Amino acid sequence: MADFDAETRKDDLRVGTPLWVKTPHSTLAAKRTLDRKHADVVVVGAGISGALVAEALTRQGRDVLILDRRPPVRGSTAASTAMIQHEIDVPLTRLQNRIGSRAANAAWRRSVKAVYDLVDLSRRLGIECS
Ligand SMILES: Cc1cc2nc3c(=O)[nH]c(=O)nc-3n(C[C@H](O)[C@H](O)[C@H](O)COP(=O)(O)OP(=O)(O)OC[C@H]3O[C@@H](n4cnc5c(N)ncnc54)[C@H](O)[C@@H]3O)c2cc1C
Repeated sequence: MADFDAETRKDDLRVGTPLWVKTPHSTLAAKRTLDRKHADVVVVGAGISGALVAEALTRQGRDVLILDRRPPVRGSTAASTAMIQHEIDVPLTRLQNRIGSRAANAAWRRSVKAVYDLVDLSRRLGIECS
């Protein structure tokens, strides 16, 4: 447990609880029971993927319900190191050898676009995340 009043901070570096789970802003309001029977779309999974899908759908005017067997943002999203970068885990040259230059280049370009889209989205939603 961090001592935030101390001049230097001492954390146990080998615990199983991700940083984000200990961060107050990472909690979201959620209900344990359903208070409605209808939705245009049900998204299963309240992590980053479900959040982005739900945002895109609600922006199109859909009524979206997000379900999760855990509290929201407690899956692998909470474990993320939170690095946002365009590079795919598989290096471009290796991906080109595996699936061909055209498909590999397209995958990398989509990945770059995804980063710019995320920046645009955070601006549009007024999320201050530097
Ligand atoms: C240690 C670690 C570090 C990482 N670092 C980075 C990083 O720096 N940058 C990066 O971009 N990515 C990173 N990642 C990867 C990134 O965290 C994941 O790719 C991303 O969070 C996946 O999001 P998700 O919404 O798809 O999955 P999740 O966040 O896991 O959400 C899926 C949700 O679906 C729910 N669910 C699944 N099945 C069901 C079901 N049948 N019924 C109800 N609910 C269900 C789960 O409870 C969960 O909450 C890291 C991952 C780990 C583990």
